[in-house]
Amino acid sequence: MSILINGIGVSSGIAIGEAYVYSREQKEVHAYKIPETQQKKEIQRFQKSLSKAGEQLHQIKNKIAADTPADILAFIDTHLLMLEDPTFNEGTIANIKKFSCNAEWALLLQSNRLVKVFDDMEDPYLRTRKDDVLHVVRRIQDCLAEAPEHIPDGQQLKGCIIIADDLTPADTLMLQHQKIAGFVTEYGGPLSHTAILSKNIGIPAIVGAHHARQLIKTGETLIIDGRQGMVINSPDKRSLKHYRALHKEEIARKVLLHELRNTPTVTTDGKTITLHGNIDRPEDIRKLRKFDHTGVGLYRTEMLFIEKNEWPNEETQFKTYKRALFRLKGKSLTIRTADLGADKEIQDTIDQGPMAHNPAMGLRAIRRCMKEPELFIPQLRAILRVAALGPVRLMIPMLTNIEEMHQVLNLIEKTKQQLRIEKIRFDKNLKVGAMIEVPAAALSAYAFAKQLDFLSIGTNDLIQYTLALDRIDEEVSYLYNPLNPAVLQLIQMSINAGKKARIPVSLCGEMASNPQYTRLLLGMGLEYFSVQANALLEIKHIINHSKLSRLRPKIKKILEHQSANEIETQLDLLNHQESEKTASK
Ligand code: PEP
Ligand code: MG
Repeated sequence: MSILINGIGVSSGIAIGEAYVYSREQKEVHAYKIPETQQKKEIQRFQKSLSKAGEQLHQIKNKIAADTPADILAFIDTHLLMLEDPTFNEGTIANIKKFSCNAEWALLLQSNRLVKVFDDMEDPYLRTRKDDVLHVVRRIQDCLAEAPEHIPDGQQLKGCIIIADDLTPADTLMLQHQKIAGFVTEYGGPLSHTAILSKNIGIPAIVGAHHARQLIKTGETLIIDGRQGMVINSPDKRSLKHYRALHKEEIARKVLLHELRNTPTVTTDGKTITLHGNIDRPEDIRKLRKFDHTGVGLYRTEMLFIEKNEWPNEETQFKTYKRALFRLKGKSLTIRTADLGADKEIQDTIDQGPMAHNPAMGLRAIRRCMKEPELFIPQLRAILRVAALGPVRLMIPMLTNIEEMHQVLNLIEKTKQQLRIEKIRFDKNLKVGAMIEVPAAALSAYAFAKQLDFLSIGTNDLIQYTLALDRIDEEVSYLYNPLNPAVLQLIQMSINAGKKARIPVSLCGEMASNPQYTRLLLGMGLEYFSVQANALLEIKHIINHSKLSRLRPKIKKILEHQSANEIETQLDLLNHQESEKTASK
């Protein structure tokens, strides 16, 4: 009899294969006293297990494919860094001494303490970082117990679907190395590192499928649908036939999309559309190029600040931006100045002064930079300098009024003057643009457009500020809707303002990466999309099969509706009709 299990789909795609239930029950940890004279030995035993855990992670890094991108390996590096973290190891050693107890127990006490710190965090992403603590602790406990490593080597897992309680990023990489077809875990959420990793490496994955290990046995046939978050155990013939056909279509689509790599993005009536990618670090360009050799419409520089946990100096920034520019091999790079604050905070500033009640409306992004010009100027200098080496644009996040824009433009001019005095090479014609992320900026978009070189609509924030909902608060996520007519009007105003002032307007929020909205945005007059790397080809495919002269009047009509639901229904219908048309060609 077939069984249906639901979970959270974190990496889309269909996989059909044999189940492999990956069990690695960990022994319960018991506390026992050790004589004071034995403490030193116990500490050494703990330190040895730390080194062994480190060796295992290094071995995994060496084993997986040599061309694994650095951003994927970084998931293992996070665990390696944790092994060296004093709060982790010195805390455990202190417990051994304080309680004169065994290393296992001392480690458990320390990990409970750390998990509590993460649990108390407000940011849902940081909250899930406790998974990393648990994964590292588990590895060390296994080393203390001298348990063998669990993942079978060899061809045994090829084409299988792995069922596990939870997987560490290292497990996931090892399993991918063995060419598994997909995986299902009982725990873990959509923001866990394992979920992010599965999306990155492109294998269908489902997390939070409770009791999966009880309901599925090794060897049973499984279907997983990563988009729907659905597992079918022992499917009947009809389901198998249906999903095999879908799987085949999926592969054919991938091949079709792959053919679009490095080809122009042009509508059927001949309008060339700019299609760029979003990146967080120079290393991301590798992934971008896997899909398309294109430019970058949004480089979120704050990741450099967050990862370093400080404001990096001018030289570090210059070298990092230069690396990004050179990797693009002549394609353009839009560098956004640091958007720190709210959901992108650096640790050392959190402790300074009282926490803002409403950080998203507080000293964030350009407000923060202008408050601390001595920290901001090195970034401006680094961008001005790197712009002398290739096509670079500077983009200011979260501008809200014209005075603020003038202040930033003045500071840029002063910075240029200083570079001139110091006889340092820079781009005197650096193009400067602004993100339209708050309703005030959208409403004044023309005033901005008249004085800037470009605009870029940041819908992630524009939606948050227009609809008064915190974008990281799960409680109100049901209200987060790009199709809200108020949001669409603000987008339309921004596009129109750019056209009137004859400057380019892009859209770089998540909305641009969602194929559901591509025709809508095209019909609204958007000519520049900046999207996530893995959305590039899908969006290009839609653009290349769209006829603007046909879309425009249809979209205009859809936008006359007053409710998001009506707009969604009409847009779904249009999308359906258009894709049918494409398929029949
Ligand atoms: C946005 O707000 O849409 C945007 C692209 O910026 P971020 O998501 O980095 O805030
Ligand atoms: Mg934003």
